[in-house]
Amino acid sequence: MTHVREPSATESLVRREVAGLPAYDPGADPDEVARASGATRVIKLSNNENPFGASPAVAAAVHRRLAATTRYPDPTAKRLAEAIGRTLAVPAGRIVIGNGSENILEMLCQAVLDPGDLVVTQAPGFSLHEIFPRMMGARVEKVPVTGEFGFDATAWRHALAAAPKLVFLANPCNPTGVMLTGAELDHIVAATPQSALLVLDEAYCEFARPNPAYPDGVEVLRDHNRPWIVLRTFSKAYGLAGFRVGYGIASHSTLVQALDRVRTPYNVNQLAQDAAVAALGDRAHLAETVRRTGVEIARLAARLRGAGLRVAPSAANFLFIDTGGDADDVVRQLHRSGIIVKAWREPGYQKFIRASLSTPEENDLFVHRLLEICRRRER
Ligand SMILES: *Cc1c(COP(=O)(O)O)cnc(C)c1O
Repeated sequence: MTHVREPSATESLVRREVAGLPAYDPGADPDEVARASGATRVIKLSNNENPFGASPAVAAAVHRRLAATTRYPDPTAKRLAEAIGRTLAVPAGRIVIGNGSENILEMLCQAVLDPGDLVVTQAPGFSLHEIFPRMMGARVEKVPVTGEFGFDATAWRHALAAAPKLVFLANPCNPTGVMLTGAELDHIVAATPQSALLVLDEAYCEFARPNPAYPDGVEVLRDHNRPWIVLRTFSKAYGLAGFRVGYGIASHSTLVQALDRVRTPYNVNQLAQDAAVAALGDRAHLAETVRRTGVEIARLAARLRGAGLRVAPSAANFLFIDTGGDADDVVRQLHRSGIIVKAWREPGYQKFIRASLSTPEENDLFVHRLLEICRRRER
């Protein structure tokens, strides 16, 4: 007898938008890869993490706070907001702190989007720029990059003319690593309707900043009287991904107040707040991380291009690489050597992997293995 499956009681409780959401892909589980491959060490290049470590000031700050973990954290993270505000010359009331900048992406969608609203973002892009809007029942239009991973001004102008409520733009872009120039950012700002909230996601800005062509979003938007927010994070250049701290600099304190109503009151734990304050204070450590990242990215990109692979020009701490074959297959073979990268699954990019930077030694192991896989396929 065939059994017709009825939706279970829990399934029919779940909102239609939620049931249809794609799952966020965090990359392969290192424990699982270690077990399956038998590799003695796993090289994790899947999450754009910082291989050089956080400032030593972070461990000291966290250690000082450990005696006080019976207390709830500061619900407004005011020491951190004030420290960021001083650094950027922005009032602390225009700064929002999140449990990672992902948390702020989520709050923005919850605060702003009604079902049916339009959100514009880029493809290929960061999956949460699509997942959170869809969670709220919004429609997402993705503007493709040009064939050379560049900014398509005409396509953006068209998309922005369709009255979006929210615009998500990452600069540098994840997964390509490509940065917008000042002129390109000006173009977007001018074409974004006043009725839309422009969200500039600058998760990798610290890496791009040494390039004089990189526009600092806060500096560009500071004098624009329109709704905007620039998002940054302690997860990447500051090396605090495990603590989960991100922040936003908003055009108006009223936007921060709206986010305060939707966020959980104690969204950032106290150890994380203290860690971020300490990391922010160690400018020498940040500068050294950025310098070493730049050297290593240039070296790896040159080596891969020299071997005939197409690599997007990265201003960040990762490389978007055309493997010339099925990326899932390449990723499976890399797993057998204990190396984890992400296969990119967006339409048109099924041959691409995104690999984050690690130490020079681990990067060399990765490149060596990748080229071996690509060469074997050619034979
Ligand atoms: C990594 C990343 C983030 C999220 O960072 P968290 O602060 O760790 O949540 C946001 N946006 C982009 C584009 C990223 O790549």
